Amino acid sequence: MSLNITSLNSGSNGNCYYIGTEKEAVLVDAGISCRETEIRMKRLGLSMEKLKAIFVSHEHNDHIKGLMVLSKKYQLPVYITEATHKHAKIRLEKHLIKRFREDEPVQIGELSVTPFQKFHDAQDPYSFLVSSASVNVGIFTDLGIVCEKLIQHFQKCHAAFLEANYDEEMLQNGSYPFYLKKRITDGRGHLSNTQALDLFKMHRPTFMSHLILSHLSNNNNKPELVNDLFIEHANGTEIIIASRHQEIPLFKIVNNSPVSVKPKEKKKAGKQQLSLFE
Ligand SMILES: [Zn+2]
Ligand SMILES: [Zn+2]
Repeated sequence: MSLNITSLNSGSNGNCYYIGTEKEAVLVDAGISCRETEIRMKRLGLSMEKLKAIFVSHEHNDHIKGLMVLSKKYQLPVYITEATHKHAKIRLEKHLIKRFREDEPVQIGELSVTPFQKFHDAQDPYSFLVSSASVNVGIFTDLGIVCEKLIQHFQKCHAAFLEANYDEEMLQNGSYPFYLKKRITDGRGHLSNTQALDLFKMHRPTFMSHLILSHLSNNNNKPELVNDLFIEHANGTEIIIASRHQEIPLFKIVNNSPVSVKPKEKKKAGKQQLSLFE
């Protein structure tokens, strides 16, 4: 079953990622206002009724800004760990609070969402792998380092949102104070373009059809720079840069692996066909 995915916004000013089937969808993070979420989904032809849950990666404001209103207005369950909830200082309706645990997939209709821990300067930060029966999509932003778990999950992805936060030279020569530069690069901050590219070059599965570079810094990066860097190594994967200002198109992610795979047998990588939903 295919998955439709998009970024409604990506960056330190707000993050909100949409992953869904024709029937149901989830948001990973709700870092733009409820109003903007509605407007941007509408422009993409996505209905709010399809939304079934919001998963929260961590408590930083750019990931939770719209959470309270969105959850209340549409009565959406919020999957958030206790530590993140406590530090987010947000009030959610009791019956909408749901917990999750590392490596324990949460079933939302036909979607399965698997959380796994990441390194970031937050209380209890998680990445997610959202799967349908045959397609995996990773949401990998706000990462201090590329850890072994990230590599494992990246290797399963037909599409991934991957952080490419900063260009090392721009950051070092830029105006940020020393402590901030250190915080970004010290292993609990953000991934540089080079770190993201190394992950992609070394661990891209042959069946990855779309890579959406995400959470680009406004001051220490440029979309063209990231695009040029990755396009050279794309190898058939479509390279997309998520915008800090608006939604990107909706992409339909399909698995075109041969269907003759027996149940429970390990699936082999197959040829992928790319398709763009508009
Ligand atoms: Zn962030
Ligand atoms: Zn963060």
